[in-house]
Amino acid sequence: MALKFFNTLSRSLQEFVPLVPSGKKVGMYCCGPTVYDLAHIGNFRTFVFADLVRRYLEFRGFEPQHVMNVTDVEDKIIRHVRSAQIPLREYTGKFEQAFLEDLRTLNCRAPHQTPHATEFIPEMIALIEKLVARGVAYRTPDGSVYFSIEKYRAAGGQYGQLVHLDFENLRVGERVRSDEYAKESVADFALWKGRVPEDGAVFWPSPWGEGRPGWHIECSAMSMKLLGTSFDLHLGGEDLAFPHHEDEIAQSEGCGLHTPGQHFVKYWLHAAHLLVEGKKMSKSLGNFFTLRDLLTKGYTGREVRHLLLTAHYRESFNFTLEGLAASRTALSRIDECLAKLTELAETHTAPPAPELVQRFTEALDDDLNAAAAWGAVFEWVRQCNKALADHTMAPAAAAAALSAWRKIDEVLGISPAAAAETAPAEMLALLDARQAARKAKAFKRADSLRDEIKAKGWLIEDTPKGPKLKRNA
Ligand SMILES: [Zn+2]
Repeated sequence: MALKFFNTLSRSLQEFVPLVPSGKKVGMYCCGPTVYDLAHIGNFRTFVFADLVRRYLEFRGFEPQHVMNVTDVEDKIIRHVRSAQIPLREYTGKFEQAFLEDLRTLNCRAPHQTPHATEFIPEMIALIEKLVARGVAYRTPDGSVYFSIEKYRAAGGQYGQLVHLDFENLRVGERVRSDEYAKESVADFALWKGRVPEDGAVFWPSPWGEGRPGWHIECSAMSMKLLGTSFDLHLGGEDLAFPHHEDEIAQSEGCGLHTPGQHFVKYWLHAAHLLVEGKKMSKSLGNFFTLRDLLTKGYTGREVRHLLLTAHYRESFNFTLEGLAASRTALSRIDECLAKLTELAETHTAPPAPELVQRFTEALDDDLNAAAAWGAVFEWVRQCNKALADHTMAPAAAAAALSAWRKIDEVLGISPAAAAETAPAEMLALLDARQAARKAKAFKRADSLRDEIKAKGWLIEDTPKGPKLKRNA
């Protein structure tokens, strides 16, 4: 079966064929955080989704190049920097570190590149110059530069590729300086914002005078610089489809860098929004959670990750504390099963048993149908538990089951061991002693050391590179 994604651009389920079909390389861009505050759980739905896409592409043998930008200059950031009276870098650096830490807590693989907007100002200026030269952008007396939707359309550009826009009934042609504006207006948006006193020390020189870039141009400049003018996948939350992504397409395709029929991006994937406790998240309703809020309440990163991964990414999802408790139960069922399989398999090794991997692949090939994938996982747990209870499973079969689990957990990333933990020195000393005992053929001593390690919560995994310690699930 072929891997299929729902492409917002075509509004249909499409087989995923990379731009270079013979190769394995896939360019993948996901709009990253605007670092002015801690990210909330709604933001993390998108980033866990991006991690799922990236891991699944890797699982399917592709080599994604995952780029996630860090928006470190933007309207809200400047407002905060002004009121906090600290330099831009100092302010954004703190929230960027917190964000990357949160990604690790959620066991998301680190993007291959995390470009900062402030490091790509020359690239942004170069794109804006192209747009001005092609007549689809214009300078205003205050030293700003705007993208003209009307001129772009007149030149054959298509505005409204991701969302259907009714140009008759929408307010068209207004000019907005703000990065985020009403969805009822198709506005000429700022590519470059002339310096105003409120910007403080946040400005750069440009051919149009001192100023700073608009938010939308940041993503066009960074994605095309790092992935090429045309790349495979662009991901983001559905709230970014309009105007942000629509503007990204207009700016990028408006530069005249593409050949006829070529697109800025081949597949656009959008994750639906998240409700919390049945409502739109808001601080006044008390249902606004950062990841840290949930950790403080005693939940773990893997529980949050599990819950965020239970729903199909295109369905709006109701995130609740009750759901987190259910995730805890679900994970402990998996953990218990894995522990029993590990005990039975002992030192046996085997290639992955095919059934689980096959059902899992079928589910995720179908536009990442996570609900079906979890269905396959829990059916497998049930069958394993039954065979274990009936004593009809041989150690080699347990090893094959564990291998199958490890294979699909490359995508799920929810095994406690997946959150790689380094063993404390005391455990490493015990492991060394056990190795020495084995060398000296003092097997009883070696076994009792293994048991001691196990009693302290660690398992010895014999690998071709020698024994390793793993947290006992
Ligand atoms: Zn973006």
